[in-house]
Amino acid sequence: MTEQRLLLATTNRGKLRELKRLLRGLRLKIESLDRHPELKKYRETGKSFEANSQGKCLFYSRKFDGLVLAEDSGLEVEALGGRPGVYSARFSGPGASDRKNIEKLLRLLAAVPAARRRASFVCVVSLGKNGHLIKCFRGRVRGLILSEPDGKNGFGYDPVFYYPPLRKSFARLRPEEKNLVSHRGRALRKLRRFLENYLQTR
Ligand code: IMP
Repeated sequence: MTEQRLLLATTNRGKLRELKRLLRGLRLKIESLDRHPELKKYRETGKSFEANSQGKCLFYSRKFDGLVLAEDSGLEVEALGGRPGVYSARFSGPGASDRKNIEKLLRLLAAVPAARRRASFVCVVSLGKNGHLIKCFRGRVRGLILSEPDGKNGFGYDPVFYYPPLRKSFARLRPEEKNLVSHRGRALRKLRRFLENYLQTR
């Protein structure tokens, strides 16, 4: 049986590292967007993780010959009514960076006590082929927002996302530890189980 190609439709280095690790061992030839400069960038305009994840998946699967995996993810903070949500990457405005996004988040939460700093990371991952959506999976992990960054691993909001069951921020977890409990790990394990079956029948 020939190996199918699977395009990981993201240019975010942190996400790519985690996704590749979570898909290890599958009978697939994994490619990423930076190897395909001919594919134009998708502009996220959706108001939900599902809309962005599915929109991105369909966009690339119309142009790429093989399977496409797209994901949209972000942070929902209870005390901010679910913000930044789908705007997590662009939270601090034009020229946003992980550092600036964290600074803005901590500023907005400055007066919020520890017990009310509940937040979740959410990830919606979509699988598609030839312009059709095959399946979509969601993962969520709950935690608390710290009052200052702690740890150097991971990316994005990891240094301020405290995970009570392990008593550590996500930026203090090793990559394999984070994947075991993270929103992305949870969504990807569902997708992986589906893909294992799907690939057997192709
Ligand atoms: P998008 O899915 O490209 O719109 O970007 C999602 C944004 O959410 C990232 O740029 C991060 O700021 C944040 N985010 C998503 N997943 C994680 C994670 O696992 N750790 C930390 N931040 C994350």
